[in-house]
Amino acid sequence: MAARYGSILLGAPGSGKGTQAKVLSKELGIPHISTGDILRAEVNSGSPLGNKVKEIMSSGKLVSDDLITEIVEKRFEQPDVKRGFILDGFPRTTAQAESLERILSNQNLGSPQVILLEVAREALIERLTGRLTCGKCGQAYHRKLNPPKSTGVCDVCGAALVERKDDSLETVVRRLDVYENETRPLIDYYAQKGRLKRLSGDQEMGQITGAIRKIFEG
Ligand code: AMP
Repeated sequence: MAARYGSILLGAPGSGKGTQAKVLSKELGIPHISTGDILRAEVNSGSPLGNKVKEIMSSGKLVSDDLITEIVEKRFEQPDVKRGFILDGFPRTTAQAESLERILSNQNLGSPQVILLEVAREALIERLTGRLTCGKCGQAYHRKLNPPKSTGVCDVCGAALVERKDDSLETVVRRLDVYENETRPLIDYYAQKGRLKRLSGDQEMGQITGAIRKIFEG
């Protein structure tokens, strides 16, 4: 049976995919699959895979389609995806989208909904260059737009906040360029299949969550 809440959140870095995926994954009890989070965990653990991708990630470029597809394919072997999943940061290229079709079809998971979060480039740059994340629970903050109550400390769990290495201005600009060149073609790819829903990512967070849920409930 197709996974009822199978979905892909599409959008540029900083468009709010991760924030929305975290909330929805909790609300719906389905896994949030973030390839960026998976890779960052590998880097932090110092595994051979982590060492291999570390430089590529901090430069803002994409890791190879083969490598990332292998990671996603393994993740989809776990049974928790049967009821649904929220993909965040995958697919990022047309080759990855095609591999995903194959993975989902092999697992009989049907066709996911694709939701595009649209945010203007200037706003993305502002969001990304001030972004802070809790090193322990993953809660997201922003120095200016959504500061923690106490500087450098997570409101939720009290752990220290960290800035992602790839959120420096130079790397942010590269990541947005990579998105334009490699990932934007996916908008047409899914629109042509009649599977794309567009949402403004420039609304209050709760409003976006509500709009995505509405799409999920169909
Ligand atoms: P993210 O947290 O989604 O912004 O991903 C952080 C970094 O991880 C990206 O800039 C890439 O270097 C790498 N990465 C994450 N997902 C993918 C993907 N689907 N394809 C290639 N590289 C990826």
